[in-house]
Amino acid sequence: MQKCENCKAQFSWSKIYKSFWWNYKPIKCSECGTIHKITIAGRFIFVSLTILPMLIFGNFLSPFSNIIVTLGIAIFILIIGSLFPPFLVTYKESL
Ligand SMILES: [Zn+2]
Repeated sequence: MQKCENCKAQFSWSKIYKSFWWNYKPIKCSECGTIHKITIAGRFIFVSLTILPMLIFGNFLSPFSNIIVTLGIAIFILIIGSLFPPFLVTYKESL
């Protein structure tokens, strides 16, 4: 998982997770205050694990004709998918 590029302090999962839902809000290191911004690759990883599977399911794979059920499962996929990106997404020190 992402560490501070300046002081190597470990960012918490929840801190990274929250950053996604605040439009990839930059993460400030709690130890040294260095600001880190998500990389382009990081955004791509997040989208491909969350929005993409949700849309694919919603548009092509849903076995349910009920829109509410489809929507519910799509949101479930979004939530499950969003649990993993904090381990994979990279941030870069912002100057
Ligand atoms: Zn730091």
